[in-house]
Amino acid sequence: MAEYGFNTLAVHAGAQPDPATGARATPIYQTTAFVFEDADHAAALFNLQVFGNVYTRLMNPTNAVLEEKVAALENGRAGLACASGHAAQLLTFHTLMSPGDEIVSARQLYGGSINQFNQSFAKFDWRVKWADTTNPDSFKPLITDRTKAIYAESIANPGGLITDIEALAKIAHDAGVPLIIDNTLASPYLIRPIEWGADIVLHSATKFLGGHGNSMAGVIVDGGKFDWGSGKFPTLSEPNPSYHGMRMWETFGDMAFAITTRVFALRDLGPALSPMNAFLVLTGTETLPLRMQRHCDNAMIVAKWLKANPKVEWVNYAGLPDNASYKLHQKYCPKGAGSVFTFGLKGGYEAGIKLVNSVKLFSHVANIGDTRSLIIHPASTTHRQLSDEDRAKAGAGNDVVRLSIGIEDTADIIADLEQALA
Ligand SMILES: *Cc1c(COP(=O)(O)O)cnc(C)c1O
Repeated sequence: MAEYGFNTLAVHAGAQPDPATGARATPIYQTTAFVFEDADHAAALFNLQVFGNVYTRLMNPTNAVLEEKVAALENGRAGLACASGHAAQLLTFHTLMSPGDEIVSARQLYGGSINQFNQSFAKFDWRVKWADTTNPDSFKPLITDRTKAIYAESIANPGGLITDIEALAKIAHDAGVPLIIDNTLASPYLIRPIEWGADIVLHSATKFLGGHGNSMAGVIVDGGKFDWGSGKFPTLSEPNPSYHGMRMWETFGDMAFAITTRVFALRDLGPALSPMNAFLVLTGTETLPLRMQRHCDNAMIVAKWLKANPKVEWVNYAGLPDNASYKLHQKYCPKGAGSVFTFGLKGGYEAGIKLVNSVKLFSHVANIGDTRSLIIHPASTTHRQLSDEDRAKAGAGNDVVRLSIGIEDTADIIADLEQALA
């Protein structure tokens, strides 16, 4: 489908009328297991000699449409759907890492990812070294011979910084490791990281892909270009006892990462996506280009309005010409700088609490990427357990408010902020 444009792919990629019934929308294949044709067919499926459905923990026809659609939108080789964005991260690292291995990650990440890396990955003895997304050269000295990947977000939560993906890809490839980009905040409508050199793209499809704040889902996209044959990634290059000594990279070539992650990590760790949620995310993804453009246009208008407001100290939105990320915004996502950004209140902590208590149209929630406008005061919620100093370092100082601008009328969004600030 590569010859179609992005809007057409969003509607059609991966989907076709149901061969059994002619249903035009993708059916929800709400089943656990699939009947084998005969014993030989079952054996071939278990040996990975043919592709097919066995058990929904591994593969499901509804989920497969989502996998193919997101892979097409990202211009990648293959996709893998799973239960959440965090599941996508866990499965990806399970394929790449052994105990004692390291990643070098941007420290400007979604707070939940920082917890996952620091707390839970430590239990697998997967180690993280933290670099600064605004300075790609800061990643280089942290790379060792145990480093297995470089990790960053395309548009970084919560501050809306834009990552120089091309520079990080070069650093990763010089070190013989893949670049993994969490593309949740940009979505492939704004940025396609694989086209800038990323090797693996991750999504919390819970956010803009699904887009309606109603389902958890994650997607992994394999760019298909990385050479896994160096010996650094034994799960991919060495004989695997659970598949009769098969070597995944040799057997599956440019889909080796996606297939390996499915048949080992998803098979054994188990965070499968429910077909119902795949259906809801698929429905959302069909309108991704329309929603994303509206999100960005609205965010730009609201950011400009906030900047002119006397109660506001600063606005950090990459779409504003005086922003530190403005040049990278022009290079990587000229259609828009996303819809998640932060601003600072002159009144500090107390003013932040007052604001979230006074909004009516905005929802006070720990989520982003909904059709609805969302607001949170990180210092009193997601970052409340940190010291003042650590909050400031994480971009969640006492005065910081984070917005995820929805697709409502901007006049109503602004009127709500105006009354709440008053
Ligand atoms: C929400 C989010 C995640 C985690 O995804 P879940 O679907 O909540 O597990 C990861 N990265 C980013 C950038 C996110 O916004």
